[in-house]
Amino acid sequence: MTKIVRTTDGTTTRYVVQDEDGWHALEGDLFGDWSVGAAVAAPETVLAPVVPSKIVCVGLNYKDHAAEQGKPLPAEPLIFLKPSTAIVNPGEPIVIPDRVGRVDYESELAVVIGRRATRVAHSDALSYVLGLTCMNDVTARDLQKQDGRYTRAKGFDSFAPLGPCIAVGLSPDDLEVCGLVNGQMRQQSRTRELIFPVAALIAYISRIMTLLPGDIVSTGTPAGIGPLQAGDEVVVRVEGVGELHNPVTRSPS
Ligand code: ZN
Repeated sequence: MTKIVRTTDGTTTRYVVQDEDGWHALEGDLFGDWSVGAAVAAPETVLAPVVPSKIVCVGLNYKDHAAEQGKPLPAEPLIFLKPSTAIVNPGEPIVIPDRVGRVDYESELAVVIGRRATRVAHSDALSYVLGLTCMNDVTARDLQKQDGRYTRAKGFDSFAPLGPCIAVGLSPDDLEVCGLVNGQMRQQSRTRELIFPVAALIAYISRIMTLLPGDIVSTGTPAGIGPLQAGDEVVVRVEGVGELHNPVTRSPS
């Protein structure tokens, strides 16, 4: 298992690689040819692993979550965009805005696209995946219902915690996806429960919009969503990837 972490020393941002024998520099282009270089110290600062041109999210992609939302199973993937400006790094706060009502966590497996994908075949779709990470698709649930569309409810700054790494060489087909709040398990499912698995999502989305290197496809959340309060700590855990931790605060009024 190889994990790639984006880090900074305050001046330079770079990628480092963790494998069986520790941490190494990443030599070359993450989205082209790269190799494992000299040994380095473990990164002190962990950044969101990519700066995507877009985040493509999938709604109602677990049967149990569709049921808890009282919605029928979708015949096609239900997709929406989340702005890349919503991303926050591991450990940075999710900020609950004023006067938006309930704000929920949504624990998700996220896919990092490795190369430009336009109208790709289902059979070839996984070859466009660089690796896997965790995303919290934070959602202002009352606004989502009130607006009847997702842009505002899903688009606030800090509503897309992402990371902590890109796990390379891991099959997305049957991984445990968990959500924990203050150490208590709230969501626990497996990606084999996805209505539309990763290959189907990439084939479908790439027929609509070109996916660029570094873009994120977030695959949807299992049952067990619930509200966050200031002072909470929320964790998204994906088997083989790791844990994405973020505290929760409230914006000053
Ligand atoms: Zn979601």
